[in-house]
Amino acid sequence: MIIVMKPEASEEQIHHVIERVEEVGLEAILLRGEKRNVIAAIGDRREVATDRWLASPGVERIVPILSKYKLASLEMSPHATRVRINGQLVGGERIAVIAGPCAVESFQQTLQVARRVKAAGAVALRGGAYKPRTNPYSFQGLEEEGLEILAEVRRLTGLSVVTEALSAQQVEKVAEHADVLQVGARNMQNFVLLKAVGEAGKPVLLKRGFSATVEELLLAAEYILKTGNGNVMLCCRGIRTFEDHTRFTLSLGTVAYLKQVTHLPVIVDPSHATGVRSLIAPMSKAAVACGADGLLLEVHPDPETAAVDGPQTLTCEEFDQLMKELAPVAEAVGRSL
Ligand code: PEP
Ligand code: MN
Repeated sequence: MIIVMKPEASEEQIHHVIERVEEVGLEAILLRGEKRNVIAAIGDRREVATDRWLASPGVERIVPILSKYKLASLEMSPHATRVRINGQLVGGERIAVIAGPCAVESFQQTLQVARRVKAAGAVALRGGAYKPRTNPYSFQGLEEEGLEILAEVRRLTGLSVVTEALSAQQVEKVAEHADVLQVGARNMQNFVLLKAVGEAGKPVLLKRGFSATVEELLLAAEYILKTGNGNVMLCCRGIRTFEDHTRFTLSLGTVAYLKQVTHLPVIVDPSHATGVRSLIAPMSKAAVACGADGLLLEVHPDPETAAVDGPQTLTCEEFDQLMKELAPVAEAVGRSL
């Protein structure tokens, strides 16, 4: 259950409630919000009377949480979570576009694309230094050199950097250079990694595993939230179905569904979902129309020569055009770009 504290509740009252929760053998997780703090009391199947804490000073109300995922659920926090990436908010009125190459290939390539996506209105730069590749003989990313390139491009452009950590051991190093830690689809249920990115304290972009259910995605997010890191963005990047005309199947129904069950921002990645350049623009528009809070898009100065994922990557010009076309769609659903 969730114990919602009054906006004016003092630190002492909050800690008193935490102690009382722990006294009965439950885990207390304090979640600090912009307007009020809430305490999640989790982890035990025993019945504990919910009004037990109502009498404590500073408590406003008790909310029982029925879903398996507690901290991620909308019941827990009826207000949309806004994840702050430096100065930019994800989950607010503005659609957050994160764009850049699939992989960091060189300083020039990364800087060039960063400048272009920034000029077109992207809020952050994406780019993999460590790449999760199906084929062990294909390009695995520039690794540490890639992180250094990202850091330099970040310094030169002021764009925040979103990049993936493939393992818990890499988290510290990646967190030194990145503003957002990406957990890739293949790692969605790597629970050790989820805890590590949570503890790193930076915002996390959690991609849905292509064979994972939505509940499994939300429970994966729960692992991160449970560390006390509330800055989690969910990413719909397509799931595997029998369909083979696209690389994966982009379930936009899931985007609308997620907005009804969780307060976390939802980002859509049409690049990996479709695998087809010509489908990126229509699916980006559809994603914004059905409630996505942001887009993750692959952009490269010369997709034909891209080391990874060229066929699904937009040119800088195509990205410019898409940003123009997205603006009225965003406006039609009460958002901006
Ligand atoms: C990526 O975004 O770079 C990536 C590898 O995507 P996914 O984990 O969704 O396959
Ligand atoms: Mn890619």
